[in-house]
Amino acid sequence: MGSVEKDLKNMREYFRSGITKEASWRESQLKGLRRFLMEKENDIFMALMQDLGKHRIEAFRDEIGTLVKTLNLAIKSLKDWMSSKKAPLPAIALLSSAEIIHEPLGLVLIISSWNFPFGVSLEPLIGAITAGNAAVLKPSELSPVCSSLLASGIATYLDNKAIKVIEGGPEESEQLLQQRWDKIFFTGSGRVGRIVMSAAAKHLTPVTLELGGKCPAVVDSLTSSWDLEVTVKRIIVGKYGTCAGQACIAIDYVLVEKSYYPKLVELMKVWIKKMFGDNPKHSNTIARIVNKHHLSRLKQLLNDKKVQESVVYGGSVDEENLFIEPTILVDPPLDSTIMIDEVFGPLLPIITVDKIEDSIEFISSRPKPLALYVFSKNKTLQNRMISETSSGSVTFNDAILQYAADSLPFGGVGASGFGMYHGKFSFDTFSHQKAIVRRSFLTDFWYRYPPWTANKFQL
Ligand code: NAD
Repeated sequence: MGSVEKDLKNMREYFRSGITKEASWRESQLKGLRRFLMEKENDIFMALMQDLGKHRIEAFRDEIGTLVKTLNLAIKSLKDWMSSKKAPLPAIALLSSAEIIHEPLGLVLIISSWNFPFGVSLEPLIGAITAGNAAVLKPSELSPVCSSLLASGIATYLDNKAIKVIEGGPEESEQLLQQRWDKIFFTGSGRVGRIVMSAAAKHLTPVTLELGGKCPAVVDSLTSSWDLEVTVKRIIVGKYGTCAGQACIAIDYVLVEKSYYPKLVELMKVWIKKMFGDNPKHSNTIARIVNKHHLSRLKQLLNDKKVQESVVYGGSVDEENLFIEPTILVDPPLDSTIMIDEVFGPLLPIITVDKIEDSIEFISSRPKPLALYVFSKNKTLQNRMISETSSGSVTFNDAILQYAADSLPFGGVGASGFGMYHGKFSFDTFSHQKAIVRRSFLTDFWYRYPPWTANKFQL
């Protein structure tokens, strides 16, 4: 037996001992995780700076702050979430009672991506712990400093008999996927999502797939200059100000009416300068591209002649410093790679339509996005967007905000994945809802048993 198999066998035995099911164990682990985030806050900032060039404020907003908020909610709500819920029964079940209890699934595997190395690793881990599971976390090898800090932090602050980090890349990940798990929670690309799902099928393991895709932002022709200015600021932050667009819910492209786009683009240029200065590379407020491979992938997107011609702002690439300037493109060809693949970087295509309502057909004829953003005050358009398109979420007049709401399920639909988490949804994702019925022997009805005679039929 290899060392991974031995570790997992020990973890299963530990889970079976029942320790992880106790509320006190769950609470102590959640508090341990919170201590890790607070005591190692500076190391986390440094790690995110080294791996991704994330500014401290962005790192706090998207990772540490959000995680501490999630932990506070989980600690406060743990007993309530764990408690059984009474359920009604039909009249035939006289003198009976029913309830739903939340049972941990067992030993779970969490595989995460590099763009929010703490967020997308620890949000699901909080769910796994809250629900009373043993868990293995496999962070991404592409954010190595964060991965190693997660490994040392979890080894120091949590109960390692039940919670472990196993570091590595595709090879280690594939080795883990060959094992039997009670749940696999995966955050990453659709390509690897398919590998995860077929490995899970072997043991009928349930999976949650948190994938990506192209998240559109629809910008209506806004009449108030204030509304336009707010829209522009939120689009810039929802693209360049969120890990330089390397976020699953970052705005991928914008849809706007032909007659309105010049106004939008002109104001975007003004605000990009106001937010990031004349030379954004030196502002330290835009994250770096994660590595050379992704930088050349993004460069390739711009290489096509027609795409190149559509660049109206930015477009410079600094290979040595892994930096790409905030870039705006207007109407790149719809069959170019930039309009087919997820951009995952600071390049923003703006696609013009004759009427804003045409964006409904544009969106619904493409793979279902993880997030849809609509900047409009028009209630009819808002309602049509909700009912005539499908996406993981819809946010009106802002971007990214939905990620921070514990009260909302976070997850995709169709090509953007399936399953959901955050807040209580994370607890449910890592639990089995077990139906319990308790019946008394006292009453019984003769007509429920065969033989099926005519008088029973008439009842
Ligand atoms: P990825 O699919 O390349 O890697 C994700 C994880 O899978 C990593 O831990 C990696 O080591 C592992 N992996 C890579 N190849 C593997 C293989 N052959 N077999 C098994 N495991 C393998 O994705 P990424 O580049 O880390 O992340 C970017 C993608 O993740 C984007 O598509 C983005 O939209 C998506 N994402 C989604 C969410 C969400 O919450 N929905 C959040 C962040 C990122």
